[in-house]
Parts: sequence; structure tokens; C-alpha cells
Amino acid sequence: ILPDLKDKVALITGAGSGIGRATAIMFAQQGMKVCLVDLKDERREQTKQEIAAAGGQCITVDVDISDPARVEEAYAQTVKTWGRLDVVFANAGINGVLAPIEDMKPEDWDRTLSVNLKGTFFCVKYAIPHMKKQGGSIIVTSSINGSRAFSGFGMTAYSTSKAGQVAFAKMASLELARYKIRVNAICPGSIETNIGENTKPTPELEKIKIPVKYPEGSQPLEHAAGQPEQVASLVAFLASDASNHITGTELFIDGAESLL
Ligand code: NAD
Repeated sequence: ILPDLKDKVALITGAGSGIGRATAIMFAQQGMKVCLVDLKDERREQTKQEIAAAGGQCITVDVDISDPARVEEAYAQTVKTWGRLDVVFANAGINGVLAPIEDMKPEDWDRTLSVNLKGTFFCVKYAIPHMKKQGGSIIVTSSINGSRAFSGFGMTAYSTSKAGQVAFAKMASLELARYKIRVNAICPGSIETNIGENTKPTPELEKIKIPVKYPEGSQPLEHAAGQPEQVASLVAFLASDASNHITGTELFIDGAESLL
């Protein structure tokens, strides 16, 4: 369906699970060469095996995206292997520690911002020297939390990081347009993934008994959370030349959840 994707070279962060994994598999199915970045070895390798078993091409690199040297190294390995970089899916993220603001520890705030926002900055910054040679597409995973206040109480650090990613993507799209690099943010609603695993509500949050999960059936279109593969389709479209006039946008993919 998207023939121009064949042989393009992509790097995906958070490729071991959820949205990143589904996108890695979809990219490989389109004939793309994919560098799988994640800090969880086992899951990263699982995605690799799945792609390899289906005849796809990929490499893996062990990276914490909050470490700039590791992000730089992942791009170096990608370009060493395939000679170019066309697509970046800056997707890895954490919910982090959920706490009321008055109880939020500065170090917990910092970790969420370091991974989600600073990590996105590193993933874009270190892609530019490679991508500016021929142009490309960068897709950043933000969230509907970046622009709407939801029932996700305790998520001020997360939502702030997600709003920051949208602003960053918009500014980057202007700055990088001269290299024919497009930058877009996607804003998923609730998607069935493993993100809950790294969600840590504090006792203070639990004491005030504010729900931290979206109520079931909150998406008018599906009456359930979305699937990672549905997000992967949007990412593939944004990676492809089929979207070559789209840059600097934030695209919601939430079954109208954010309109409720
Ligand atoms: P997930 O937990 O299933 O996958 C995230 C992956 O990122 C994991 O494999 C994890 O190991 C990896 N990761 C975490 N921190 C990392 C780091 N510092 N460096 C490298 N890798 C790291 O979650 P997901 O839902 O697929 O999340 C992907 C993105 O989607 C995140 O940015 C998240 O904020 C966003 N998002 C998710 C939802 C949802 O409901 N699932 C909604 C909106 C936005």
C-alpha cells in the first residue's frame, strides 16, 4: 500500500513493546530496514526474532534514550549497517511516578521529563546530521494528555512532558523544513500496551482515591482501548511519501476519546 517505504531505513525507540513493537513489525512488513531501540533486552530481542522469522531486516541497540551518548551510538550503528537514515519514530516513553503535585518528588518529576521530553530532544538532535543529507520523516509519540486534562490524576509530569513534545515537534518542523525533514507528533488515546507496568502511583495518590485509569468504554468509536497496530498504521502513513505535505501537526488517534 505504501511502496515508497521499501528499503527505507528507520530507527524506532521503545521497539520492544506496545506501539513501538507494532510499528517495527509493520515497517519490516513494508520492506523497511529497522533499528530497534529499547532498554529492555528481552523484549527488544523478541521483536527482533519476530521480524527476522518473517524475513525482515533489523538490528537492535541497547539504549536508554535519556542518555545522549547511547542515542548517538544507535544512529551510528544504523548508518554503519545500512548507510542512511530516512525515518525516526521517537516513541519510547513512561508514565513514571504518579503523585499529587504537593507530594511529587523532584527526582521523580525529573525522570519522567528526562525520558519523555529530553529523550525526544536527543532522538531528534542526533538524527539530523544523518537525515539532512536526503530528508526524511520524524514522528514523535505524544498523547491526548498533552493538550487535554483528563482523569489521569497524578499525571502532571507525564502530561507536561507530552505537551512539551508537541511544542518541540512543531518548532523542529519549522527548523528542519529546509532539509526536507518533516516532523509530526501523534497523540494516541488509551491504547492496550504494557505502559501500565512502569506506572507507579504513590500511596499519597491512592489515599485520595482519584482514579488513575480511563473508564472502560471511554472511546466512542471502539468502546474499548485502541490497539497498537492501529497507531502503527498512522505512523507508517506519516513515514511514507503519501504524507509528504504534512509537517508540524499533532494528529489525534483516539476514537474521539479526547472529545468527551
Ligand atoms: P509500552 O510500555 O508497551 O512500550 C514502551 C517501550 O519503551 C517499552 O518497551 C520500554 O522498555 C521502552 N522504554 C521506556 N523507557 C525507555 C528509555 N528510557 N529508553 C529506551 N526505551 C525505553 O508503552 P506504549 O504504550 O507502547 O508507549 C509508547 C508511547 O506511547 C509512549 O511515549 C507513551 O507515552 C505513548 N502513549 C501511550 C498511550 C497508551 O495508552 N498506551 C497513550 C498515549 C500515548
